[in-house]
Amino acid sequence: MVMASVAPPPLSFYHRHKPSTHLQRTSLTVPKSSLSSPTTHTSQIHNLSHTKTQPFLQRLQHFCDSGKLNEALNLLHSHSQNDAFFPSSEQAIALLLQACAQRKDIETGRKLHAMVSAKHANDVVLITRVVTMYSACGSLVDSRGAFDAARDKDLFLYNALLSGYARNALFRDAISLFHELLSLAELVPDKFTFPCVVKACAGVADVELGEAVHALALKVGVFSDAFVGNALVAMYGKCGFVESAVKVFETMPKRNLVTWNSIMCVYSENGVLGECCGVFKRMLMLVSKEEGLVPDVATMVTVIPVCAALGDVRMGMVLHGFAFKLGVSEELTVNNSLVDMYSKCGYLDKARVLFDMKDGKNVVSWNTMIGGYSKEGDFRGVFELLREMQREEKVKVNEVTVLNVLPACLEELRLLSLKEIHGYAFRHRFQSDELVANAFVSAYAKCSSLDCAERVFCGMKGKTVSSWNALIGGHAQNGFAKKALDLYLLMRDSGLDPDRFTIGSLILACARLKLLRCGKEVHGFVLRNGLELDEFIGISLMSLYIQCRSMLLGKLIFYKMEEKSLVCWNVMITGFSQNELPCEAFDTFRQMLSSGIKPQEIAVTGVLGACSQVSALRLGKEVHAFALKAHLSEDTFVTCALIDMYAKCGCMEQSQNIFDRVNEKDEAVWNVIIAGYGIHGHGVKAIELFELMQNEGCRPDSFTFLGVLIACNHAGLVTEGLEYLGQMQNLYGIKPKLEHYACVVDMLGRSGQLNEALRLVNEMPDEPDSGIWSSLLSSCRNYGDLKIGEEVSKKLLELEPNKAENYVLLSNLYAGSGKWDEVRKVRQRMKEIGLHKDAGCSWIEIGGKVYRFLVSDGSLLESKKIQQTWTKLEKKISKIGYKPDTSCVLHELEEQEKIKLLKSHSEKLAISFGLLNTAKGTTLRVCKNLRICVDCHNAIKLVSKVTERDIIVRDNKRFHNFKNGLCTCGDYW
Ligand SMILES: [Zn+2]
Ligand SMILES: [Zn+2]
Repeated sequence: MVMASVAPPPLSFYHRHKPSTHLQRTSLTVPKSSLSSPTTHTSQIHNLSHTKTQPFLQRLQHFCDSGKLNEALNLLHSHSQNDAFFPSSEQAIALLLQACAQRKDIETGRKLHAMVSAKHANDVVLITRVVTMYSACGSLVDSRGAFDAARDKDLFLYNALLSGYARNALFRDAISLFHELLSLAELVPDKFTFPCVVKACAGVADVELGEAVHALALKVGVFSDAFVGNALVAMYGKCGFVESAVKVFETMPKRNLVTWNSIMCVYSENGVLGECCGVFKRMLMLVSKEEGLVPDVATMVTVIPVCAALGDVRMGMVLHGFAFKLGVSEELTVNNSLVDMYSKCGYLDKARVLFDMKDGKNVVSWNTMIGGYSKEGDFRGVFELLREMQREEKVKVNEVTVLNVLPACLEELRLLSLKEIHGYAFRHRFQSDELVANAFVSAYAKCSSLDCAERVFCGMKGKTVSSWNALIGGHAQNGFAKKALDLYLLMRDSGLDPDRFTIGSLILACARLKLLRCGKEVHGFVLRNGLELDEFIGISLMSLYIQCRSMLLGKLIFYKMEEKSLVCWNVMITGFSQNELPCEAFDTFRQMLSSGIKPQEIAVTGVLGACSQVSALRLGKEVHAFALKAHLSEDTFVTCALIDMYAKCGCMEQSQNIFDRVNEKDEAVWNVIIAGYGIHGHGVKAIELFELMQNEGCRPDSFTFLGVLIACNHAGLVTEGLEYLGQMQNLYGIKPKLEHYACVVDMLGRSGQLNEALRLVNEMPDEPDSGIWSSLLSSCRNYGDLKIGEEVSKKLLELEPNKAENYVLLSNLYAGSGKWDEVRKVRQRMKEIGLHKDAGCSWIEIGGKVYRFLVSDGSLLESKKIQQTWTKLEKKISKIGYKPDTSCVLHELEEQEKIKLLKSHSEKLAISFGLLNTAKGTTLRVCKNLRICVDCHNAIKLVSKVTERDIIVRDNKRFHNFKNGLCTCGDYW
């Protein structure tokens, strides 16, 4: 649309020539109004017929003007039968040929061509007209035929054919004709040749040829012509050489409106949007100074979409006012672009007013307005407008309409409407359009209706990479990773190569399935095809390795990325946090800060999660301070993460403070505070909050109930717990999941109701997992119930035969009942399988740094000091009753060796280190990856007494708050 104004000069361009050698030509193109006073050269030959000529030509002109070309032809025939060489016959034929070109009447044109061949075969001027007539009718083969038949070819004839090729997009033919022309010594291309050739260069996107033509234009001296310059600007722009286009623009001696429109178009099409507006403003400054330089429709429809793309509604409104002043705002194309601009800038109401005001809307108007509603997700607006459009007689729904409607149907809720529009598209055969079919495939996938997506896909004739991508991506995103990979193999079999979107989906699929090897293969493909610098691919690969717990590889990709975006940092920080590498998460967060990227909610939430994991209170406070400064603390996710962090660091008061300050509490905020009290065993407080939540009109969800059940469990509120499990289903209609049952089973077991617990496990709708069996087994050990314990252990070892912890539990059960033979058997079995107990690991944060201790770890510089500290402590606590309890040591060792092993448990190391490095009275916060053992629990209780310290140990089950020789867990965990 815009490019029309930069197309080669109009058909009759050579009327601007006044070549003295071609006298006849002047007469051919005399303006209509001057026909009454014709030039004199025709009368030189036949003076006698002079008076007869005038009315004849006038009548002919009249027929041509009114489109009666047949009558005109008959008149010409009757005239020439009377006198074969009547004086104005060339003039008459030329007039008629022009009329045929205008009205694209090729049949009449052919008859005229026959006349020219018969009687004027040497008249190159008439042959030129014939060539032009055919090209206007779109028949370049005929043009070429007439051209080839001419005996004498002049530049005008060449230009006519060249122009025909260029207008009909036969760019290669244009270029070869130009080569032909250059080989003729006697003809030199002129300012009418160049625009056509330059356009052809743009058409075949051959910038090198374009540059050569540019150089030739300079040499021939036609560069100063505005048409040539305009064509060069457009050519460079089309080829993406913005700088060259600008250079031509700036050096052009004479610019016209088309020049300005062209350069704006170049900027806009190449995405240099700001510059486009700049040029427009520069042009406006010249409006009053340069004649004819008044923005027109083409200017408006170039600049308004730029405002839309920039989201610059203020500039858009200025343009709107300007268009109004110029009197072009009523033009359909301008109105359409204004509607588009307003809706893209989020001013849908304003767009609608303009849309409604316009009479004679075309399909583009409707599509634009529908697209506006669709992007806003205004489902009702879209379908109301669509129905209205279908009632319109003059416009017909087309492929673009369907494509614009689809974004409104991209959720499961809209599946029915999607099917409706699909049926409509099918009936109107829009689905044969590849874009439409692909859009349906991905729309169905987004509505989680993969069967429908696949059916549309299978019905497609020409499947492209995009079609496959829609289906593969749909499966990967909906969690059908295996199917996505299978589809990929089918795609390769069909001979298509993947692109970056296919690769992205494959990586996602591998990440979901945690298929590290498969993912590495895709990574290899990425490297072989040079896609590793693509940010989207890079981030996908990072996520893959993070999901597969291969942090080293994830880190490598992260550090190789040259420009790390916000998303990139977020993925890495969250990844470290999820993989229980809190120290790395902090380091990365700090690097992010120092690299000048401003962390947003996701990064802050991620790093707070890392703090929670290891109870790193001081770091958590630092991040809290940062969140306050960065005005992120109001964000719900950040708020929840803060409440959770303080809770997991054992500071419920702080959690409560933050919670109290939240003005509008949503479910998530309630859930996290309830769960916080729950893990600390403050059952009554948790239940209180749960009631309050309901009173304030918040509806508890499955997470709320989990928190409440955890609270009941840790506080031993069995009756209440069972009541809430029932309430959850009966009152709120929430189906309990495995984790809810696990909680209740553990609660029943803890209180010694082992039979009830077992019954619940057997009645559960879902298959119990190993976690449930192991908690039940642990209860059996505590209550010495060998019968149920053996039954439970069988189930547990079936599910998880390779986990050392399970054998430890069983062995402890036997040991507690004095069945030493069985104990030996269990240990023998472990040995046979080659199992070792998971390495214990504890964390403690001191001075904002997190220290990690592995069992028997001697790697820390201070390890000797730490051991000395513990030995001293042990002496002190022995005096008040500590006796090593070696029942948890599995290895077949001498008693002395076992006692030595107990000393190296990681929580003891962490506590010793903490006592060494903190001031008197400081609370110690330790985190442990496994369940704390009996010996450590006993020892730490006594340590809290002799050192007068609060010691908080969070193991993988719960909180132990040791104080003055007692623990808040009541020795049950
Ligand atoms: Zn221990
Ligand atoms: Zn405890």
